[in-house]
Amino acid sequence: MDIFELDKKYIAGTYNRFPVNLIYGLGSLVFDEMDRRYIDLTSGIGVTAFGHSDEEWTKAVITQINKLAHVSNLFYTNPDVKLAELLCKKTGMSKVFFSNSGAEANECAIKAARKYSAKKGEDCYTIMTLENSFHGRTLTTLAATGQEHYHELYTPLTPGFVYAETNMESVKSLAETTKIAGIMIECIQGEGGVNVLPADFVRELAEYTKENDIPLIIDEVQTGNGRTGQLYAYMNYKISPDIVTTAKGLGGGLPIGACLLSEKLADVFGYGDHGSTFGGNPIACAGAFSIIRRLDDEFLADVKRKGVLVKSLLDGAKGVESVCGMGLMIGIKTTKPAGEVVKKCIEKGVLALTAKDKVRLLPPLNINDDMLIEAINIIKEVCRE
Ligand SMILES: *Cc1c(COP(=O)(O)O)cnc(C)c1O
Repeated sequence: MDIFELDKKYIAGTYNRFPVNLIYGLGSLVFDEMDRRYIDLTSGIGVTAFGHSDEEWTKAVITQINKLAHVSNLFYTNPDVKLAELLCKKTGMSKVFFSNSGAEANECAIKAARKYSAKKGEDCYTIMTLENSFHGRTLTTLAATGQEHYHELYTPLTPGFVYAETNMESVKSLAETTKIAGIMIECIQGEGGVNVLPADFVRELAEYTKENDIPLIIDEVQTGNGRTGQLYAYMNYKISPDIVTTAKGLGGGLPIGACLLSEKLADVFGYGDHGSTFGGNPIACAGAFSIIRRLDDEFLADVKRKGVLVKSLLDGAKGVESVCGMGLMIGIKTTKPAGEVVKKCIEKGVLALTAKDKVRLLPPLNINDDMLIEAINIIKEVCRE
């Protein structure tokens, strides 16, 4: 049996994979079993922020593997503490809880918000999210996800979630009828179609949550760690959230999630209130440190510049209706169905993603201009045909 047949036989059928078996990667390129070359504009869904086989990340990970892979959270280790310190220094947040995925980071945020808001009464547990949001695949983060079709198969979901439209009237009217323990948003809805939230709305929401002492949670699982040309996307909006969750690009390739708590919520958890066996794993944290360390102003400005470059290359191209996003998180509305465009792009050696009805690009943050332009030209060619 070849690998495709073995996969069908042994892997649970949740993923409808493209017929490409990837063997190794170098920078922004990946190669399949026939040694065919692909330019990777997916970064494994925003994970490999510095591309494949990144020298600094690989060295950090290998060095840590050779020292210590895991000891549990019953003991102190250096990598998680050093990473938490770096994250807090760069964001102004106060404390970090490490998990292994985005969904788990959001679970932690929901727990933190509920625990913080318990002082308002035991009926204050509802978390408000936005319609069209995506917050993960656990039963609770699915409940947080404001998209009906993700819920259908798995009811009853965790109770205590309401979904607002992206406007303050909707937020306020929901808060009138239900006590709200926290509000969670993505500044750019990734899975929902690369929808950039309007600045007015995000700023007003931040003010509203502050006035009403409601924890504001920003889900930066996809938008975080330099993706939008700021360290975290909320920084584009000049707000200061109470909780920030992140994962994907943080790990540079290894599974890790983080829930950052501001001063207001820094001490919300006590001993035993939350935990994770693998959370804060030394190898994942050592790798993540090498990623976050490099996201300085100069690097982030270059991410922004490349985002503008992509937009300028695509704007007005035949078969391209509109381009949205920020930095290197890009959505393209194409005349042809997005799924068809992505399929053709892969055949021509460019890996891309979809998000709802759009083609979505999440290239490595350090992709060079030549490779980016080569890939965008192939996308344009496919859109034009
Ligand atoms: C991917 C994603 C998640 C879920 O992260 P996992 O690591 O798959 O659990 C949550 N929120 C957002 C915004 C995401 O893009």
